[in-house]
Amino acid sequence: MIVALSGGTGGSKMVDGLARVVGQRELTVVVNTADDSDFYGLRVCPDLDICMYVLAGVVADRGWGYADDTFRCLEGLETYGQPAWFGLGDRDLATHLHRTVRLAEGTALSEVTDELRRRLGVETRLLPMTDDPVRTAITTATGERTFQEYLVKHGAAEDIERIELVGIEDAAPAPGVIEAIGQADAVVLCPSSPVVSIGTILGVPGVRDAVAARRDRAIAVSPIIAGRPVEGPAHRFLAGAGYAECSARQMAEIYADVVGSFVLDERDESEAEAVAALGVRPVLTDVLMPDHDARERLARTVLDAL
Ligand code: GDP
Repeated sequence: MIVALSGGTGGSKMVDGLARVVGQRELTVVVNTADDSDFYGLRVCPDLDICMYVLAGVVADRGWGYADDTFRCLEGLETYGQPAWFGLGDRDLATHLHRTVRLAEGTALSEVTDELRRRLGVETRLLPMTDDPVRTAITTATGERTFQEYLVKHGAAEDIERIELVGIEDAAPAPGVIEAIGQADAVVLCPSSPVVSIGTILGVPGVRDAVAARRDRAIAVSPIIAGRPVEGPAHRFLAGAGYAECSARQMAEIYADVVGSFVLDERDESEAEAVAALGVRPVLTDVLMPDHDARERLARTVLDAL
């Protein structure tokens, strides 16, 4: 069994590649839930849904949401003066409605997630990092925002002064998370944001130690190429969390206690020596994943490296 730790857009590309190489049944994915948010009383879990839609083969080309979705409900809400900056498609709403109904009945998020993915024909086990509420709170010069407000409503345009993971100390790993990591043939830290995706998963009490105990079988993939995130504002999150650099080497340093190997892009070959100096084995390859072939090729390289 391969275990992947993943956020949303970046992580799901690696998840897709791993599933194509080992088969969906041989993969378990532990997913960040600190980006979750409530809209109109509905629980939305963006990272879980992106991973689920990717594995179900129904994700839209833009990388999130359902393929060929329409936004009639959102348009209607806007007519009534409701905020409509978060893109919830009509088919996508069914996921959030079902989840919200089941949570209100007292069902744990991990159980609801399992129901959703099975109904969509996904054979990979998707585990939320925790069933407890953990939320990323972002402070900028103009105030405090939820993760989605910062990213989507305000377009990640501001520098970050502080990042807080509200509730993380009291969160417990969801059922199966620690066991899956402990029994995995390999643990893959996907190229997701090191601060607000992988950082939050590792921040759930017990998870960082569980991965560290498997360090020889754990490998991370860099989301940073040539000093810049492939996409998105990871550089702002890194700076907001107090890290001096946005580089592959910086990623390897953040993960040095939990992974024995680190995959960085060939364009960052000059950083390989500095990665090795951290006690982490550098693996050089092309880490861009524009299509299924590239994802599969990178997944093979990652697993072969172990
Ligand atoms: P979010 O939860 O939707 O913000 O997404 P993630 O945290 O999973 O992923 C965001 C990260 O994915 C960003 O830092 C990107 O640099 C990275 N990323 C996106 N596409 C690729 C890719 O093709 N290759 C690599 N190596 N990283 C990528």
